[in-house]
Amino acid sequence: MTHRVFSLRRRWRKARRTYGAAITQKVGSHPFLAGIAGTAVAVAMASLTFVTLYDGRADALKHAHETSQNLVSLISSDVERNVEIYDLSLQSMVDSAQNPATWRLPADLRRSVLFDRATTAAYLGGAYVLDVNGRVLASQDGELNPAVRLDDRDYFVVQQRNPSVGLFVSHPFRSRLRSGNLSIGLTRRINTQEGAFAGVALLAIRIEYFQRLLDKINIGHAGSVFIVLDDGTMLARKPFSQQEIGTSIAKSPTFPMMASQAEGSYTADSTVDGVRRIFTYAHVPSTPLIAVVAPAVNDVFAEWRRRSLIAGGLTLALGTVFVVVSWLLAFTLQDKVAAQAELVRLAATDPLTGLSNRRILDSRLDEEWLRARRNGSPMSVLFVDVDYFKGFNDTYGHAAGDEVLAAVAECIDSVVRRPVGLVARYGGEEFAVVLPDTSAEGAANVAEKIRRKVQGMSLFYGESEHGTVTVSVGCATCLPAQGGSASGLMAAADAQLYAAKSAGRNRVKS
Ligand code: GH3
Ligand code: MG
Ligand code: MG
Repeated sequence: MTHRVFSLRRRWRKARRTYGAAITQKVGSHPFLAGIAGTAVAVAMASLTFVTLYDGRADALKHAHETSQNLVSLISSDVERNVEIYDLSLQSMVDSAQNPATWRLPADLRRSVLFDRATTAAYLGGAYVLDVNGRVLASQDGELNPAVRLDDRDYFVVQQRNPSVGLFVSHPFRSRLRSGNLSIGLTRRINTQEGAFAGVALLAIRIEYFQRLLDKINIGHAGSVFIVLDDGTMLARKPFSQQEIGTSIAKSPTFPMMASQAEGSYTADSTVDGVRRIFTYAHVPSTPLIAVVAPAVNDVFAEWRRRSLIAGGLTLALGTVFVVVSWLLAFTLQDKVAAQAELVRLAATDPLTGLSNRRILDSRLDEEWLRARRNGSPMSVLFVDVDYFKGFNDTYGHAAGDEVLAAVAECIDSVVRRPVGLVARYGGEEFAVVLPDTSAEGAANVAEKIRRKVQGMSLFYGESEHGTVTVSVGCATCLPAQGGSASGLMAAADAQLYAAKSAGRNRVKS
């Protein structure tokens, strides 16, 4: 067991070293990858947050719709149940009023026969039986005011003209019988035995009933809830406003849709106060009433907006920090990579001549040797040495000597075809040239070009027999595939150089 754990750890460490190094190398050679990756991650995180926030908005809207639907059906069922109760009372009043025996009873008894059920109804403003002319024939409280005629009321006219209306819900009105209370009338037609119009049974319901019902509903700061007739007449509204009651919202552009469909939902600016709200409505079954619940858009999204601002702000801030840090890292990495490249270059270069140094010469020599051996191709090496350079230094000074070395280096470099060949400073005033894939003849050509070009520079050297700086070159060529070694090839070139010197200098020996 322990052994397995150790072996796993070893493997993990090895993988980390391998892949870690690969990643570091990749990022190192493309420093902007860190910045781009950091930016991509930040953008992805921000997108994720914004998608989530957007979903949250849809959730808030859905929740508001559900709540509104629940409230609408609560209001609707309460109103429906109460209207049912009122209607039962009305039907009982009609039945009793149509019975001639009722009218032969003493007034007290007649009243209890006519209105026994009506007394139990909540928010009842009054119960009346009206005659053909709209005069009160009987009232629940026993008061009969012969001066009051109600034949102009909509609830009377409708029943008078149409025998098949059934239950009628009137527009709001101020009671003429009860000190101007705002009420709506629920009426049913009373017929003679022959079916002719004989009057109307009327229940006056205080509009307060609807107002009390709406008061119980909490709809947020700027929300509104109301009950309207299907012709647009406002019966009750929260927040309460006396002057709105009885006015019409039929002109509102959205009202026709509300009136024509059993239930639905839409978002619009309120025609009453201009606040933008999400309206959810439903018709109260078997009545001309519509219950509407309308929370303000601002209230619905308030909590979501607050959370979004915090989450969105934090995401943006953290994302920005993340992006900035990634790019700082990228730029730092870039500087480091550049510095490293410069170090590598310096470590490989001879500072005086700008040529490759001995270290690079050794490694390239081995590389080229192996390649030539693999390919079966020839390989040549040149040794270039400045003639009588000690004397030059002694005569013209070390600084002038340095200038000559730099000029000779540049001259050799310009002759050798790069990047195939390599020119390096071997040491002192000696240079080595590696010529892969080059025969002895080719090498001798290059060597002669170098010698001629150096002399052609005409660097003044009065004491020299030629009057200018000259070089001697030793060439060596071999086929690495046939054996031998790189150092052997160098030694051969050195020997040829020695031969060139002995033969009088300013010459090539191959
Ligand atoms: P030969 O023709 O046989 O090559 O004679 P030589 O004088 O060139 O050879 P020697 O080896 O006796 O002298 C080499 C001189 O090169 C010695 C030294 O003063 C000079 N030298 C070596 N390195 C530098 C350098 O970096 N700058 C300068 N100015 N002189 C250098
Ligand atoms: Mg020398
Ligand atoms: Mg020399």
